[in-house]
Amino acid sequence: MFNGQEGYGIFEGSGVEEHYKVKQHPHTTEGANFEVTCDNCGRANVVTLEWQQIADAAGAPQTQRLPVDRVTGLAWQFHGGRMWPQVGCVQCRHLIGPSLTPDEAGRLLREAQLAGLVQTQRR
Ligand SMILES: [Zn+2]
Repeated sequence: MFNGQEGYGIFEGSGVEEHYKVKQHPHTTEGANFEVTCDNCGRANVVTLEWQQIADAAGAPQTQRLPVDRVTGLAWQFHGGRMWPQVGCVQCRHLIGPSLTPDEAGRLLREAQLAGLVQTQRR
C-alpha cells in the first residue's frame, strides 16, 4: 500500500541527517526495494534490503543486535531509534541507506509474508 508514495510514511526522515528522498518499489523475493535519491549529488540509487536484514532490524530491540549486510559485512548504523545499512551512492559514495524503525521493518516483513515472498520457517 506504500507503493508509489514518495517522501512520506515509512521513511519520513525524522532524523537530523536524513533528508533522503525515498521511493518504495515493489517487493521481490530478494528483499524490499527502494529508490533513494542521493542527498549529496542527486543521483537516484536502487537499494535492495534483504528480508533477513529486515527481519533482524525488526527484532533488534529484543536481540540487541543490528542487522549485518551480507555483501559488505558491515553492521547497520543506529541513531535516534532508526537504523540504516551502510550503503553508498554509486556515484559519490555518500551514505544513502534508507532508515527504518523496528516497527517499520516489522511492517515491511509482514507485507512480504502476506504476499508470499518470504518463507517463515518454524522449526
Ligand atoms: Zn551521490
